[in-house]
Amino acid sequence: MMVCETESKTFSADTFAARVKTSEPLEGLNIEPNLLQKFKVEPGIKVKLGNIDPCYCANHVSHETALPEMLSQLHKMDQLQNLMYAERKHSVLVVLQGLDACGKDGVVRHITTGMNPAGCRVVGFKQPTPQDLRHDFLWRVHPHFPARGEVVIFNRSHYEDVLVVRVHQLVPVHVWSKRYDLINELERLLVVENYTTVLKFFLYISREEQLARFKRRLDDPARRWKISEADYREREYWDDYVQAFQDMLQKTSTQHAPWFVIPSNHKWFRDLAVSQIITRTLEGLDMQMPETAVDIARIRRRYHAAELEAKAS
Ligand code: AMP
Ligand code: MG
Repeated sequence: MMVCETESKTFSADTFAARVKTSEPLEGLNIEPNLLQKFKVEPGIKVKLGNIDPCYCANHVSHETALPEMLSQLHKMDQLQNLMYAERKHSVLVVLQGLDACGKDGVVRHITTGMNPAGCRVVGFKQPTPQDLRHDFLWRVHPHFPARGEVVIFNRSHYEDVLVVRVHQLVPVHVWSKRYDLINELERLLVVENYTTVLKFFLYISREEQLARFKRRLDDPARRWKISEADYREREYWDDYVQAFQDMLQKTSTQHAPWFVIPSNHKWFRDLAVSQIITRTLEGLDMQMPETAVDIARIRRRYHAAELEAKAS
């Protein structure tokens, strides 16, 4: 049974953001093993979720020990995203999936702490509207893909169309079973046409941890708005979801758009892992600050003239 102590330590967003801005990347930290390699699902590999420990937290023991690295990651992410925004060549799509209460909202909060909101958007996908349902299943996602220079985070995504739709048989098998290839093709389009880096995170929690989080939602008035009857109904389909997630991971983790399975019973470890993977990926993009379009020598002369004038007056 996968039970472990979880911490719900949170910082006020302001305090945390201030610490990110002032913290320099630290040398000699207790750096994680390369989580990008560790959690990446190699294409075609069958993932047995039962073999993965959702309490895993590498060489960290607590939120406190992980905090310096978390701050350092966010600081780096902030700088790299700024570079991406300035360069306007690459873009990043982050996809978050997982069972109810797995922490998709928490990850959004965490990673956007290390980003300038001007270059970052979050898009949530709920039940399709009647208009969505009159189109193909990818119609509603396409307009939200990132433009060059942008990071877009999907809180749920087109993958619901091979998850909830499959589990509840909302369309026949012959329809949803073709969708894996269609999704792979669409994601390939993003990569080859628009320099988009696609990173997909499956946040994996245990059944016991989900129930503990549902209890916290009941007990804490600040979390009650999240409670829904549907959470309990979906929980009854746990095994069907596990099957659907395993197939999704096997069929849609590709070289161009890999899935990562993130052990997420520890919220702080989940955040650390996702931010480390995003940061390492951004570091590998070989981004360059664009050349300035203006004549710097001429502008410098104008600046000196203005400075002299200011001193004289
Ligand atoms: P939440 O993310 O908790 O606000 O819930 C959103 C709900 O919308 C979840 O129950 C999803 O399963 C559901 N949903 C999202 N996309 C689809 C879809 N394509 N078809 C059916 N239900 C969906
Ligand atoms: Mg929900």
